[in-house]
Amino acid sequence: MTEQYRPDTLAVRAGQERSQFGEHAEALYLTSSFVFANAAQAAARFAGTEEGMVYARFSNPTVTMMQERLAALEGAEGCIATASGMSAILATVMALLKAGDHVVASRSLFGATQQLFGNIFSRFGIETSFVAGTRPEGFRAAMKANTKLVFIETPSNPLTEVYDIAALARVAHDGGALLAVDNCFCTPILQRPLQLGADLVIHSATKYLDGQGRVLGGAVCARKALTDEVFKFLRTAGPTLSPFNAWVILKGMETLKIRMQAQSTAALDLARRLEAHAQVERVFYPGLPSHPQHELAMRQQASGGAILSFEVKGGRAEAWRVVDRCKLLSITANLGDTKTTITHPASTTHGRISPEARAEAGIGEGLLRIAVGLEAIEDIEADLRRGLEGR
Ligand SMILES: *Cc1c(COP(=O)(O)O)cnc(C)c1O
Repeated sequence: MTEQYRPDTLAVRAGQERSQFGEHAEALYLTSSFVFANAAQAAARFAGTEEGMVYARFSNPTVTMMQERLAALEGAEGCIATASGMSAILATVMALLKAGDHVVASRSLFGATQQLFGNIFSRFGIETSFVAGTRPEGFRAAMKANTKLVFIETPSNPLTEVYDIAALARVAHDGGALLAVDNCFCTPILQRPLQLGADLVIHSATKYLDGQGRVLGGAVCARKALTDEVFKFLRTAGPTLSPFNAWVILKGMETLKIRMQAQSTAALDLARRLEAHAQVERVFYPGLPSHPQHELAMRQQASGGAILSFEVKGGRAEAWRVVDRCKLLSITANLGDTKTTITHPASTTHGRISPEARAEAGIGEGLLRIAVGLEAIEDIEADLRRGLEGR
């Protein structure tokens, strides 16, 4: 589907291929393999000289539809779907890097991403330097002659620090490296990293793309020369997206724009209410003028997004009280769901980091992270007030 359609339209229509039956909704092809008309066609498909389906580790029509829809939304030439967000990162690094290569990554990364770069790739000769802070100069200083990849997430979790994608693309390209952006928090509805100069966009489709907490999935979007390499790894190694999960995500994407807009609007509303609350020390949300990078966020994102965090006065005991008094909000580390979730990062997602490192990263004992869903904002606020006001 061509570029002239707006994101709303692409989210609903892009990528759909109808079968001979003319089904209106996208079909779910639950098949692991495909038959060939004759021996010559089988040979041509395996050799790649003829386009078409071979085996579901390589491709499946439902997965292809999901890939095309996400590619259209990101404005990418190619998209390869993977079994999870983590396998999207795994496939990217395995496909594009080799032993002896170096990675520059932000310090504020999803926990499993930190582990993957810090403890797993390092065993195979791919070293990662983690950069503290968001300043592009910090990244520039960490670049080495063998740096092949710069990897960031923006906004970061849980403090919503914003990284300047265009500036970091220049840093990466000046050093002959690629810039990969994990776009899980914003989705292409709020932020399109490829248009800002990034080379690769990583998704955990588990979050907002599905949007309803049902399945795991992931994707890599990039120019075709790069996704072709990722595909070669995937068809050989196998962390492929299942057709069923692709179908769920494909249908989830149809409501992505209205969900992202509604959830971002509610998050801004909640951020303002929390900022005005006497028991709240500080609110971290890129959509608030008090956010140190508000201007940058408003330049590269369509809104502040649906995730915010706030520091409760009184440290861990008070923060836990807020969590424990919640009757509506789900106490879970997940995000990107229509159901609002609440997390105490210092004792869960960031619990394994030393207290000193946590303090250095700015993740306080009173910090709570909220991923705002689709419930009425008044009900979400009332749930938090119960704990904040000791009721
Ligand atoms: C959840 C998440 C991932 C990992 O995705 P999975 O689908 O759980 O493998 C990666 N990055 C970010 C920012 C995430 O929130």
